[in-house]
Amino acid sequence: MPASSYVIRRAPILLGGAIYGVYRKFSYDIEVDTIFFRLRASGVGKRTSLGDSVAMASRLTEKTVGEVRIQGFSLAGEETVIVLPDLNVAFDIGRAPREAVHVDHICLSHGHMDHSAGIAYYFSQRNFQGINNGCALVHHKLVRPLEDLMQVWGRIEGHVSPFRFIGVDEGEDFTVHRGLVIRPFRVRHPGPTLGFSIIEVRKKLKPEYADLSGQQIVELKKQNIPVENRLEIPRVAYCADSALGNYLEHDFVRNAEVLLVECTFIDEDHLERARKGQHTHLRDFPELMGRVRSPNVVLFHLTRRTGIRESKRMLEQVLPKTDLERITVLMDRPRRSMRSESGQQE
Ligand SMILES: [Zn+2]
Ligand SMILES: [Zn+2]
Repeated sequence: MPASSYVIRRAPILLGGAIYGVYRKFSYDIEVDTIFFRLRASGVGKRTSLGDSVAMASRLTEKTVGEVRIQGFSLAGEETVIVLPDLNVAFDIGRAPREAVHVDHICLSHGHMDHSAGIAYYFSQRNFQGINNGCALVHHKLVRPLEDLMQVWGRIEGHVSPFRFIGVDEGEDFTVHRGLVIRPFRVRHPGPTLGFSIIEVRKKLKPEYADLSGQQIVELKKQNIPVENRLEIPRVAYCADSALGNYLEHDFVRNAEVLLVECTFIDEDHLERARKGQHTHLRDFPELMGRVRSPNVVLFHLTRRTGIRESKRMLEQVLPKTDLERITVLMDRPRRSMRSESGQQE
């Protein structure tokens, strides 16, 4: 068949296809615009400084536990980041979600990628957005490699983003401001790994001076006589990735208003895996709950190997009601799908 005759015979089909293609493109654009419009109208979208409109639905789940607002995402081996926006602190950085980029103090527990991958991006984004004074508290042994990492990124990007790593270890408090300190403590996990407790510090007049006037107290202070007791209120303690250990005996851990503990493994078949990787297993929880006095215990770092619903059912089997009432599962929210977990370090 000659080519011209083919085109004539196929013309209605070709024309129809072209019109349909234009229609699809046009309607797709409208659909996308409509979605962005709806997201913006619902407060999810955000107009950036560049004038672009982008959908910025958060990956993090938000919960208020006790009186502490927590935004977080945590799955073993995949990502862990827990943001305390009202305390200006985050535990680990995960893949640096925007909520974490906006807090000034990142407490990096250890070097496993699921906890630390976003640290370079954190500093880069803060630089990009013009936010100053960000810092990351890390174990002394990790300072140098992380500084090297920033330099390598500098070679890749063409400039080095400003960064600040502060080396800490157990017994070395970091002062956020006069009324708040971050206290690192050692936990049990491969490599240098730290937990952190956020402690509110108040000064309270010693009872023996309760009846003195303001002027009399000022006079005593001038003579360098200590008139106040230091009162420490542990608000939130983060036990990082860890097997059970003596760190649970610290008052600033076990008495925290909110205690974040990992519970990586649930199934009995995963007990050996938990012991080998120095993680906490469901079987450890009766002992753990007996050792801590926190009114609010938040479980994070669960494996995808066991679903949340199943994990909660198993918890109910091993813990009494009084302990269950203290427990919140961070990632307890409607989920769309459960994928199998990779074999990387957790
Ligand atoms: Zn982990
Ligand atoms: Zn780890």
